[in-house]
Amino acid sequence: MIPNFYRTHHCNALREEHIGQTVTLAGWVNSARDHGGVIFIDLRDREGMTQVVFRPEEDAEIATRSHELRDEDVVQITGRIEKRLAGTENKNLATGTIEIVAVTLTMLNKADVLPFHLDREMSNEDLRMKYRYLDLRRERMTRNIRTRHKITTAARNYLDTEGFIEVETPILSNPTPEGARDFLVPARMHPAHFYALPQAPQQYKQLLMVAGLERYFQIARCFRDEDLRADRQPEFTQIDIEASFVKQDDIIPLVEGLLASMFKAGQGVDIPLPMPRMTYQDAMDRYGSDKPDTRFGWEITKLDDLFANTGFKIFKNVLEGGGTVRGINCKGFATVTTGQMNRLNELAVQAGLPVKALAFIKLENGEYKSPLWKVFSDDEKKAVTERMDLQEGDVVFFVAGAWEMVTTVLGRTRLEVASMMDLLKDNKALNFLWVVDFPLLAFSAEDQSWVAVHHPFTRPKAEDVALLDAGNYGKVRAEAYDVVLNGYELGGGSIRIHESDLQAKMFSVLGVTPEEQQIKFSHILEAFKFGAPPHGGLALGLDRIAMLVSGETSIREVIAFPKNNKASDLMTDSPTNVDFKQLRELYIQSTFKPKEKEEPKA
Ligand code: ASP
Repeated sequence: MIPNFYRTHHCNALREEHIGQTVTLAGWVNSARDHGGVIFIDLRDREGMTQVVFRPEEDAEIATRSHELRDEDVVQITGRIEKRLAGTENKNLATGTIEIVAVTLTMLNKADVLPFHLDREMSNEDLRMKYRYLDLRRERMTRNIRTRHKITTAARNYLDTEGFIEVETPILSNPTPEGARDFLVPARMHPAHFYALPQAPQQYKQLLMVAGLERYFQIARCFRDEDLRADRQPEFTQIDIEASFVKQDDIIPLVEGLLASMFKAGQGVDIPLPMPRMTYQDAMDRYGSDKPDTRFGWEITKLDDLFANTGFKIFKNVLEGGGTVRGINCKGFATVTTGQMNRLNELAVQAGLPVKALAFIKLENGEYKSPLWKVFSDDEKKAVTERMDLQEGDVVFFVAGAWEMVTTVLGRTRLEVASMMDLLKDNKALNFLWVVDFPLLAFSAEDQSWVAVHHPFTRPKAEDVALLDAGNYGKVRAEAYDVVLNGYELGGGSIRIHESDLQAKMFSVLGVTPEEQQIKFSHILEAFKFGAPPHGGLALGLDRIAMLVSGETSIREVIAFPKNNKASDLMTDSPTNVDFKQLRELYIQSTFKPKEKEEPKA
């Protein structure tokens, strides 16, 4: 490293072998302690801490001044390294067997009292966000930011080695059909026109393939105006990848190597490769999710054959109507409380359950507790007990109805119960897997039209194109793949359509009229006519990967300056009002009327 004028070493560099040397350190006063008139401080920089002692017999003047040191003052100290007195070593500190006897003390900047202690976990999120620059001084946060740097660097190096070229694509761009709401930016030079911030660089990266770049990547900032959750932010980062002359079986091992290099850099672990693959159908059938958490069992079990001749009306009607009856056994959940059951019912209804409560059987103290049990015949009871492996302490949930609703509701219930039981608390497994063979299209009841499951540029499987031609849209599978870790989607992508005709057809299926196609997508439809190579790619969610590598549960913990769950930055107070003059330049007038405050009731 280039020498530094402020210091000779960082605060985690000195050990017993340095005893006797004179060194200069610079950093923050982590804590100042007065031991019978002698001041000790832990001097901290981003690398660690070193103890400094100000002995009056060494230098009376600086010993006196050291009494003025306060937490978070920024100082530069020169001193001699000595071994700490026997019994005063600090085993928790890498520098804990030595200390610096100060001979000079330079105050670089005094600090006011901080709004919170840096050495305590903070539950007040708003305060953390308002003073994010202080929050980031805390060891956990510094570690997270550095881990993110390490995995990003590993990704860059890996992709460089594999022949990928990093290209920046525009932030001021056009709406992209990735399925979320766009952020719009008014274009001053084009009144009443707007740029959209990219939801992903999807079309640009495909155009780079038409440009003959062959292998592209970008650590790309993406913007989606969606409701926020623990693993979502309005702006987030993707490792965006595209390559030409590739098939799914080229992309998958490439990305596996990439993820392995990132986890090695961030966590020091070796991920066993290749990762398992599961079809979408299988993932839904077994786990009720297209991002299954396979760290625990409780798989969904089909029970249709057991109830083929049932007298139980509800199941009978469902089966006769082409539906299905399935269940999961949540082992050891007989301890379930009424509150928990209410919560599960609420979630099940949100996930599409058409009735108010989940059907269940609980086996507690040898007794079957369930309204259902009575309506089952003896044969059914026996068969259910066997098939579901129903044992003392278990709760089996049943859902009957259409396949998608049944699997989704059971999948959600499975995860929620696991979380209620803290089932995965100490589970250190890293269960990576690929989900493949996604459907290309899904019918949106809300829009009464077909929508792309990934995005409109995804290629249908060659063997399913006939189904597309025949209008059998729900059956068409895509050349699409998602990579999943412990129930989180880390990324997804596809082999793309590279022919103008097929792309236009796909748009038509999605209800984009030829006129609209000309307005919105003529660039890509035209580009595909000038020699577009077959191509495909994928994007990984960098924030989510950094979160999982760091052992965090929110992506906010691995983003330097995140937004809160109302999409605000409390530190800079963004978003903010703008001047009337600024709006006038953009020909914009606000029609927003704040709600009048209700009069307090008398
Ligand atoms: N652009 C896609 C996304 O953001 C990823 C891809 O298909 O490469 O989800």
